[in-house]
Amino acid sequence: RMVTAKQVQAALDGPLNPFNLQPYSAQYKGILRNRKELPAYAQMTEFYEMFTKHQIMIVVGETGSGKTTQIPQLVCYSDLPHSRGKIVACTQPRRIAAMSVAKRVADEMDLTLGKEVGYSVRFDDMTESGTTFLKYMTDGMLLREATNDPDLNCYSTIILDEAHERTLATDILMGLLKGLAKRRPDLRLIITSATLDAQKFQRYFSIRRSSPAPLFKIQGRTHPVEIFYTRYPEPEYFEAAIRTVLMVHRAEDEGDILLFLTGQEEIDDACRKIQIEAEDLLKQDPDAIGPLVCIPLYSSLGPALQARIFDPPPPRKNPKGPAGRKVIVSTNIAETSLTIDGIVYVVDPGFSKQNVYNPRNRVESLLVSPISKASAQQRTGRAGRTKPGKCFRLYTEKDFMKELEDQDHPEILKNKLDSTVLTLVKLGVKDIVRFDYIDAPAPETLMRALEALNYLAALDDEGNLTALGGIMAEFPLDPRLAKTLIVSPDFKCSNEILTIISMLSVQNIWLRPTNQRKEADQAKALLTNPDSDHLTLLNVYNAWVQNSKDPNWSWSNYVSQRSLLEAELARRQLESLMVRFDVDLVSVGYGPKLYQRVREALVCGLFMQVARKEGQEYVTVKDNQKVFLHPSCGLDHTPEWVLFNEFILTTRPYIRTVTAVDPKW
Ligand code: ADP
Ligand code: MG
Repeated sequence: RMVTAKQVQAALDGPLNPFNLQPYSAQYKGILRNRKELPAYAQMTEFYEMFTKHQIMIVVGETGSGKTTQIPQLVCYSDLPHSRGKIVACTQPRRIAAMSVAKRVADEMDLTLGKEVGYSVRFDDMTESGTTFLKYMTDGMLLREATNDPDLNCYSTIILDEAHERTLATDILMGLLKGLAKRRPDLRLIITSATLDAQKFQRYFSIRRSSPAPLFKIQGRTHPVEIFYTRYPEPEYFEAAIRTVLMVHRAEDEGDILLFLTGQEEIDDACRKIQIEAEDLLKQDPDAIGPLVCIPLYSSLGPALQARIFDPPPPRKNPKGPAGRKVIVSTNIAETSLTIDGIVYVVDPGFSKQNVYNPRNRVESLLVSPISKASAQQRTGRAGRTKPGKCFRLYTEKDFMKELEDQDHPEILKNKLDSTVLTLVKLGVKDIVRFDYIDAPAPETLMRALEALNYLAALDDEGNLTALGGIMAEFPLDPRLAKTLIVSPDFKCSNEILTIISMLSVQNIWLRPTNQRKEADQAKALLTNPDSDHLTLLNVYNAWVQNSKDPNWSWSNYVSQRSLLEAELARRQLESLMVRFDVDLVSVGYGPKLYQRVREALVCGLFMQVARKEGQEYVTVKDNQKVFLHPSCGLDHTPEWVLFNEFILTTRPYIRTVTAVDPKW
């Protein structure tokens, strides 16, 4: 059955929603008017011609052209997944994008989020089995599903969105789906990318050497953006960024501002400072300066806070005064994953937090690093969505030309691959080195991963998956933590390890407001276990539960209620996996014995991350790296041996979340 653009347009304008046979709401009609303006809508005929003819197609188009919100809907009109028990999937590298876009598309289709349109991200499944026919999901979740159902039979079409991000999971999915397409001629694939450099995908997905996969190009309608560089290098990009935002606010015409920073702490800090300064300006000169609202955007924000980025700017203070302005301070998320209309000014300090792995010393660290030219261009493009804009790059033109790399490297070339290799083995990939990667990782990185998985007993000496490894692969956790959890019943403390791992999976438990650092540190000290940061996390969670999960308790103890709720969600999901794979939930009950057992269980998974005291410092056992205890560490002494959860490199090499251990464990 072939659908035509005409039929779809008639259905969109019709009296009844074909997906639930209800009359359309007024909100639907309002949104539809906007959708009709999108380039993806204008090229519907062309899209269906290609989609019905080809099993695999590549889609490129500028950010904001409608790839993520419109293409999956067009596919639904063709596949009619709801009428034959199938699902159309659209993957996203970022969970926040999957959640936000699913909500938007549910509204656009006049359907209910969590029913017909859903999302599935780690620890949060908003789908209804048998009802959901359009599913936004992280690439990691689809990869996980593939380990249980290699043919992914429930899907009629799979859209790998934001493929230009080249995340680990998307890269592996490309390899798997390329193979799967041969086995399942009924499955359709769409690979979408925001960068125009799609040839690589076309070639990779070519049917024969001579015929690359077809390319569907969505014509962007962007306005010119004027680029400004600094004359001299900026030594303090953070201060410069705030100054620039305020300068734009004072001097430039109506239009919202998007500032790119690197992480949550920096972003919250900037929002506070900008807000205070802007209020001062407004007080000094209410006739010339408009009101300003500063909104943070980063991945650990809850859905309600995320949604604020789409709020209109604040209204004028008086009818003749200047218009209000919205300032969004965001991580990379706003680069291509989420489109915010109304941005006219972009402030780009030229940095982002990037994951860097060095297989030589097995150290993986998140580093604030210069972005690529491609990223800088994407950021600039965000200013030209609705009208001509301006982009302020806080670096010199010479640095842009000389210092920035052209493209970011795909994650598979720079990340640790332990978890990926375990997934591949579980998927039945026999030869990890010769898998059909779009870019093959360094053999050394693969070897390190195989070695680590062997130490963890997930793989035997021949590289075959063990029973333990098979279960480890089922948990959406780093293999070391999965191992810890699975062996914890042997130590009669799986109940506690489950809590600790859930707490480790969320960010920023502790609140430390700039003006209340002392109070926050005092509150933390009361919850601290002097031997173990891991046990401290356990204490916090248990104290919260004992206080009926009361947000006031969290507030007065300077811990984040939101993070605790997230940890609770993670805990529930992990617990149901434990039930499914027969990992008993047990506890010896409170006492010193319990604490020791928890620490012993941690060693079973994290034994590769142990450091020994040498003088005032620590040295890692595996690679002889000099490291320091992170300032957030709550230990009241410096034990001979410690186990650590992560290594981070900031001003110094630090180990964070630390537990004292006994070498005989
Ligand atoms: P692309 O994937 O090509 O970058 P999207 O499909 O994400 O583009 O977005 C297309 C347009 O849909 C945006 O330009 C914006 O106008 C609108 N849009 C997307 N998400 C939202 C939202 N949550 N609220 C309001 N408008 C949105
Ligand atoms: Mg998109």
